[in-house]
Amino acid sequence: LRILGIETSCDETAAAVVERDAEGHSKVLSDVVLSQLDEHSAYGGVVPEIAARAHVEALDELIEEALARANVSLADVDAIAATSGPGLIGGLLVGLMTGKAIARAAGKPLYAVNHLEGHALTARLTDGLSFPYLMLLVSGGHTQLILVRGVGQYERWGTTIDDALGEAFDKTAKLLGLPYPGGPAVERMARDGNPDRFNFPRPLVGEARLDFSFSGLKTAVRQAAQEIAPLSDQDVADICASFQKAISRTLKDRIGRGLQRFKAEFPVTGEEPALVVAGGVAANLELRGTLQALCDKNGFRFIAPPLNLCTDNAVMIAWAGLERMATGAAPDTLDVQPRSRWPLDSNAETLIGFGK
Ligand code: ATP
Ligand code: MG
Ligand code: FE
Repeated sequence: LRILGIETSCDETAAAVVERDAEGHSKVLSDVVLSQLDEHSAYGGVVPEIAARAHVEALDELIEEALARANVSLADVDAIAATSGPGLIGGLLVGLMTGKAIARAAGKPLYAVNHLEGHALTARLTDGLSFPYLMLLVSGGHTQLILVRGVGQYERWGTTIDDALGEAFDKTAKLLGLPYPGGPAVERMARDGNPDRFNFPRPLVGEARLDFSFSGLKTAVRQAAQEIAPLSDQDVADICASFQKAISRTLKDRIGRGLQRFKAEFPVTGEEPALVVAGGVAANLELRGTLQALCDKNGFRFIAPPLNLCTDNAVMIAWAGLERMATGAAPDTLDVQPRSRWPLDSNAETLIGFGK
């Protein structure tokens, strides 16, 4: 099977070709990503209209490049997979409509892929992981702990009740005067800071539910910054270090509970269970270290796919389409619509009340 993937849900325009042969060996034939970072950085965040226009401008050429680098033509692919949600509606429209047009013109089946499913299944491509496993997605738009039971079978165990973790990094950076995106800037500053200078809140720690909350942390940072303003570089470094420590402690508690629950539901028989991390925040070395230590302590394998496959890309979309096709699932019809909100777990919206 050979699939062309298209991703346009946020601020990366991406196209890729992925293949799996009859023996089950998979291979990334091409992986093209155009980040719009420069176009949004002046605004300190992603501007939806700018993003949609940039996707329109870049996508056709990117798809041609992905096919060329893979050394295949449209006739050589078995299906088209395009992200159809969740995300910014303008971008989703561009990608999905392009996918539909190509599928129609080339006479290929179309798979409308949930972006979160792409993140969730990536570890099967990179590490050959078998079901079930736990997945922590921490990006600018999402913070979710997901049980991956099988292709198309996902249970959301926890989600943020306010800000996403990447968003908390970005907002904290902004109020400290650090550049966008905030995550890398905060991490860099934190290296020279004292993590014990400020005792920032660790929301929901100790609670049985597996959700997350980060907006209180951001507010506490603002208050601390206002109290000691004007801020020296050392003050900023200390705030960043203390902020990261609070997040580390929060994750340790929340994810620790998730691992316990997983072990209770799936008693270990042979292979060690696994926790997979995805999303841009997974680049953070301190948080990675925290998760690695937590996994070691609980007898879990900790799997972090290479960073380019943790952040938004089209390889994961092609792969999710491939996995679905391989199960024999029917493709989508050409009247499939993009969905800005589309929880992976269809119960999630009704259970908790928000769909991100
Ligand atoms: P999605 O739609 O999947 O949420 P996104 O574009 O918001 O996509 P990503 O591109 O996966 O998310 O990740 C971007 C986020 O990751 C930003 O919020 C950024 O601040 C954060 N980030 C990147 N590097 C680091 C880091 N070293 N430490 C913490 N956060 C980081
Ligand atoms: Mg992004
Ligand atoms: Fe993403």
